[in-house]
Amino acid sequence: MGGTFDPIHFGHLVTAEASRAAFGLEQVIFIPSGNPPHKQDRTVTPAEHRYLMTVLATSTNPYFRVSRTEIDRVGPSYTVDTIEELRGVVGPDTLIYFITGADAVMELMTWNRPQDILAQCELIAATRPGYPPADFQRLRQAIPQVSAARVHTIEVPALAISSSDIRRRVESGEPIKYLVPETVEQYILKSSLYERPRTAGGHGHGRLAEMWL
Ligand code: NAP
Repeated sequence: MGGTFDPIHFGHLVTAEASRAAFGLEQVIFIPSGNPPHKQDRTVTPAEHRYLMTVLATSTNPYFRVSRTEIDRVGPSYTVDTIEELRGVVGPDTLIYFITGADAVMELMTWNRPQDILAQCELIAATRPGYPPADFQRLRQAIPQVSAARVHTIEVPALAISSSDIRRRVESGEPIKYLVPETVEQYILKSSLYERPRTAGGHGHGRLAEMWL
């Protein structure tokens, strides 16, 4: 399961568990992106924070694992490199599914070596309820006919939650309780993630962290 996870939230966790049940998966490996090539225009939270939040969020599910592979890799995080590396570990006979958001899958043909990704794994594109039918059509058209059967969709009501909304909420001081696991909420507060940059002389958590860490 790939994502920036900035931060991870219940929508991601429900997507993983629903995919596991629907596709009979042996385990779900969460792979936080290290250096997302398509996000050069916005600041992404340092990978180590995103990795730790993913570990905290998944720790109670025995089927969930977290991989550091993209975090530790130097250079842009290309999915094709990750899938090929995983294929090398699990061998040719294991079926691999790459799970991620439908909006990301929509752009698949712009990713690095999309045909090689489709040759090595099937995709599960998670959508929120009410995802416009026109977008489904666009998704199908975006994938070459021969590979379309390798792209599955799964509707996840909890995907009404989004990372961007959580970041916005923290910045404006709104609660994020019940949108992310409690451990993740506490990690965000403790590490002063997503807070508005403080003015000089402010005494918020961010400034304290700066003074002590
Ligand atoms: P994104 O463009 O930030 O996200 C698009 C949409 O998908 C958002 O609504 C996002 O919601 C949702 N989403 C993302 N990951 C999800 C997940 N695991 N489960 C459910 N919904 C998810 O997507 P991204 O996180 O940067 O990238 C998604 C994956 O595609 C990553 O593994 C990334 O490395 C890969 N990717 C690879 C390439 C490449 O190889 N060149 C290019 C693009 C993406 P939230 O914001 O709430 O997560």
